[in-house]
Amino acid sequence: MGAGHAVGVGTGTDALTIAIRALGIGPGDEVITSPLSAAYTALAILAAGARPVFADIDPERLTLDPAAAAAAVTSRTAALLPVHLYGQPAHMTALLAVARRHGLAVVEDCCQAHLATCEGRPVGSFGAAAAYSFYPTKNLGALGDGGALTTDDSALAARARRLRNGGQAERYHHVEPGVNSRLDEMQAAILRERLRLLAGWTSRRRELAAIYRAALGGVVTLPPEMDPGHVYHLFVMRCASRDALGQHLSRSGIGSLVHYPVPIPKQPAFAAADPAPCPVAEQVCDEVLSLPLYPQLAPDDVERVAASVRAFAN
Ligand SMILES: *Cc1c(COP(=O)(O)O)cnc(C)c1O
Repeated sequence: MGAGHAVGVGTGTDALTIAIRALGIGPGDEVITSPLSAAYTALAILAAGARPVFADIDPERLTLDPAAAAAAVTSRTAALLPVHLYGQPAHMTALLAVARRHGLAVVEDCCQAHLATCEGRPVGSFGAAAAYSFYPTKNLGALGDGGALTTDDSALAARARRLRNGGQAERYHHVEPGVNSRLDEMQAAILRERLRLLAGWTSRRRELAAIYRAALGGVVTLPPEMDPGHVYHLFVMRCASRDALGQHLSRSGIGSLVHYPVPIPKQPAFAAADPAPCPVAEQVCDEVLSLPLYPQLAPDDVERVAASVRAFAN
């Protein structure tokens, strides 16, 4: 990903929390993030002791809206935490401009975006640090949990290595309260082998997504391809009668999922953060449906899923 350092940790969530803590962000600080993501993005901010502040999403791209992020900045804001959601890169040029204008750090959530690029540049190379998950369902998955944070900053990498290791500067000398977050060696060995396959898997995801796009154009709202660097962690379409479509697919033996049914600011777990409403994210949560997409899926099966979606629409 073009980064000088990669620090293996136990999960993607830990990678985010450790990146935030290594930047010196914690209690009293605010971190602006997206209301549409796995809740772990915002839970990582809470785990670092900071307050997650939700700015609404861009209605097309479905990632953090740079204008909304700028409007959410206060004197306590320390960082922006955009998510490259479903494999779609967030609008990094505009977000970096906001960060620069207000002197904010940027931490990228790349947990769904292994090998994605934004305007030709690898995601994860825009901010001070980036977080990856190797949970089995991710584009690069282990057989169990795993994660890594990447950065070009040697001092940040050194502090992250210390934080993941109980805060030890040297063996049995704990200089700050770190955590125990190891990238298990067995998982690391599996990831090393699978890493060789990731580029091929990514091309395959894009080919299968192109079949869906060709078959479903004009039938449902397709995921916008804002950037050719999209890696299709998920193929997320939108449909006003999303629940009925999911049931129709299920009757044909086709699995589908909703990523995500509830925007993070509406989750009771975040009530104490006093989140502002995010109406775009709320509407999107009622319409999104993820169709089957993984590198081993046969093109004929993609056609079959698309035919079932078309039959429902007719
Ligand atoms: C999976 C995921 C995480 C959390 O990663 P874990 O390895 O499950 O802790 C965080 N953010 C996003 C966007 C994710 O998809």
